[in-house]
Amino acid sequence: MTAIDPGAPVLVTGGSGYIASWIVRYLLEDGYGVRATVRDPDKPRGLEHLHALDREHPGKLTLHRADLLEPGSFTAAMDGCQLVIHTASPFLLGTVKDPERQLVRPALEGTRNVLSAVDQTPSVTRVVLTSSVVAIYGDNADMTGKACFTEADWNTTSTVDHQPYSYSKTVAERAAWATQEAQQRWDLVTIHPSLVLGPSLTTASVSGSMTTMEHFVDNSMALGAPALKMGIVDVRDVARAHIVAGFTPAAHGRYVANSEIVSMLGIGEVLRARFGSRLSFPTRELPKLLIKLVAPAAGLTRSFVDRNVGWPLCLDSARTRTELGVEFRPARESVVEQFQQMIDDGL
Ligand code: NAP
Repeated sequence: MTAIDPGAPVLVTGGSGYIASWIVRYLLEDGYGVRATVRDPDKPRGLEHLHALDREHPGKLTLHRADLLEPGSFTAAMDGCQLVIHTASPFLLGTVKDPERQLVRPALEGTRNVLSAVDQTPSVTRVVLTSSVVAIYGDNADMTGKACFTEADWNTTSTVDHQPYSYSKTVAERAAWATQEAQQRWDLVTIHPSLVLGPSLTTASVSGSMTTMEHFVDNSMALGAPALKMGIVDVRDVARAHIVAGFTPAAHGRYVANSEIVSMLGIGEVLRARFGSRLSFPTRELPKLLIKLVAPAAGLTRSFVDRNVGWPLCLDSARTRTELGVEFRPARESVVEQFQQMIDDGL
C-alpha cells in the first residue's frame, strides 16, 4: 500500500508526448503540481500546449530538460516527488531503419536511467510506467491455444528484427521490474495500453498513433484493408488510468488498458459512416496472400503478415476496470474524434 501526498509534485517523463500531455493536463486539472521532462524545453514548436496549460494553472507546471540516453539527467527534476510517471519512450512504426538505436536503446537505457534516478531520490515511493500490450504479446498468432491475453502473459516472440517496437517495450518493462525487485522503498505499477487513439493536445507528436490513422488518408488502403485485428483505447482513458494507478494505494502489478478489439476494415467503416465516401476508406478486406505479396512495398515484413493478418485477438482489461475503476470509451468515439481533429488541424 503506497499513499502519495497530494501536495507533492508529480514527475511526468516525456511530458510533451501524445499520452503524457493528457496526463499532465488531467493532473493539473485535479490540482496537482507537475514537473514535466522534455528533451528541449526551449524548442519553439511542440510545447505550445504545455505553455498554455502553464498559463491556465499558474505556478503548478514546470518543464525540465532530460534525455533518456543521458544518465543522471532526470535526477534534479525528481527531487521531492513521490510519484513518477514514466511515459517517455519512442513509439515509431514503419520507418525504423536502425531499431536498436531508434527503439531499444532509448526504451531500455532510458528506463534504467529513470529508475536509477528513482533509486537515488529518497522521496519517490511509486513509479507508474507506461508499458504496452505489446509487452504482453508480440503477434496475434501468440493467441494460439489461449482464450485471451491477460496481465499474466509476457511477449516472448518479438526480437530486435521482428516487431522491434514490441521488443523494446518488453525488455524495458522487464528491466523495470528487475530494478524494482532489487529494493523495497518504491513500488511499480505498469499500464499496458493497446493502440491509443483519440484527440491530441499537440500536433508535434510522431507517435505510431498518428501514423496509423494517416494510413486511412494516404490511399494505402484504397483497394482494401488487411484482415488485421487490434485493440483500441482512448488517450484520455489511458491518461486517467495512469493517474488512478498512481494515487490508488492498493494498485500493484500490471494493468491492461483496452476498450475494444477492432479490425482495420471496422475502423474504415466507422470513418465512412461519419465522414462519407469522399476519402478512400477501405470497403473490403484483401486476401492474405495478396497482402503478403505487397507487404515489403508497404513497409511490412512477410513474417508480420504471416503472424498477424487473419488471426483473432482478445485482450482482457477486467482487472483495470474493477480494481482501478477505469471505464473505457467506445472505440468509435476515439476514431472519429481523432480523425476530425486531423482534418481540423489540416494534417
Ligand atoms: P509520443 O507522442 O511520441 O511520445 C513519446 C515521448 O517520448 C515524447 O514526449 C518524446 O519526447 C519522448 N522521447 C523519445 N525519445 C526520447 C529521448 N531520447 N529522451 C527523452 N524523451 C524522449 O508517443 P506516445 O504515443 O505518447 O507514447 C508514450 C508512451 O506510451 C511510450 O512509452 C509508448 O511506448 C507508450 N504506448 C503508446 C501507445 C500508443 O498507441 N500511442 C500504446 C501503448 C504504449 P520529445 O518531445 O522530447 O521528443
